[in-house]
Amino acid sequence: MSILVVDDSPVNRRVLEATLRVEGFREILGASSAEEAFKLLGVGPSQRPVYDVEVILMDVVMPGIDGFEACRRIKSTSHLADIPIIIVTAMSETESIEKAFDAGASDYLTRPISRVELHARLRMALAVRREQESRKARERELLAVTQQLEIANRKLTELTRTDGLTGVANRRHFDETIEVECRRLRRATHALSAPTWLSLLMIDVDHFKAFNDAYGHPRGDVCLQMVATAIRHALLRPADLVARYGGEEFAVILPDTPPDGALNVAERIRAAVQHLGIVHERNTAAPVVTVSVGAASSPTPEGADLLASADAALYEAKRGGRNRVHVATCANRPVA
Ligand code: GH3
Ligand code: MG
Ligand code: MG
Repeated sequence: MSILVVDDSPVNRRVLEATLRVEGFREILGASSAEEAFKLLGVGPSQRPVYDVEVILMDVVMPGIDGFEACRRIKSTSHLADIPIIIVTAMSETESIEKAFDAGASDYLTRPISRVELHARLRMALAVRREQESRKARERELLAVTQQLEIANRKLTELTRTDGLTGVANRRHFDETIEVECRRLRRATHALSAPTWLSLLMIDVDHFKAFNDAYGHPRGDVCLQMVATAIRHALLRPADLVARYGGEEFAVILPDTPPDGALNVAERIRAAVQHLGIVHERNTAAPVVTVSVGAASSPTPEGADLLASADAALYEAKRGGRNRVHVATCANRPVA
């Protein structure tokens, strides 16, 4: 860390330098013009600083760019804005002192320079600078901690919405989403002439109690994980949501999906689960694990009604022999 003395007079520079050395400052740089100082500091486009300067002593009257203008330019360079600049002036008029502060100087000294005054002002400038730097370091630390906290919070929110066994959405997340989707659609249906639909699938593993009894609970758990993954992969749109609704039951929310679309997705899920080929000898519908699916759709849905319809359809799929899809008859068809 150095002190930079900017003065066009070599005599002035030498006097200042000698005084500084007497006061115990060791690293002292000199510049004979503002332009030379800019080079050392890295002022200007694509300029890199050559030295790490801690404080600047700046003469006012110099050929070319004067001390006030130099001060202004240094202060408007982002990586230098915190360096304190002490203006050294021969004129003691208040006008030039005011100009110095306007240009961004943090202090001033008048010639002839008193050793005691120079020492006091430099110490003060350095103390302020160091305080500023440690404040910035604390701010950076605080920012890093805040960012870590935000990441942790996001993870926590994600955990509270996720089913621990299967990794898909949990019941709470499902309940929130179905309400949001119902409200969104009711608003959209009011605003649009062409109706849109919300569809819901209820999916239940066939004879799963018998599967657990035959192969054990741990394999039952693995089976549920595989079924959840198969359902997730059968969904193609980002807005589709699969949730574990209860023990071996899953629910799928399909926004903007009419009944025929819901039937397609339901059939894709049914086939995908069967295709897993998990042996289940006690299943009456097939020698492997299968699911039954109930589908319901509405353009003006209420969460509870849609759930009841999908549940009734699921019951029909079970009654019809399992490993099949049943679509609920729509109570409220859209007005054409
Ligand atoms: P159905 O074809 O009529 O649906 O018959 P089911 O045996 O699947 O239906 P039921 O509702 O009688 O049984 C569901 C079983 O699912 C009960 C329990 O043994 C099993 N089950 C529920 N949750 C879990 C779980 O988290 N892990 C495991 N391994 N089994 C579960
Ligand atoms: Mg069940
Ligand atoms: Mg079942």
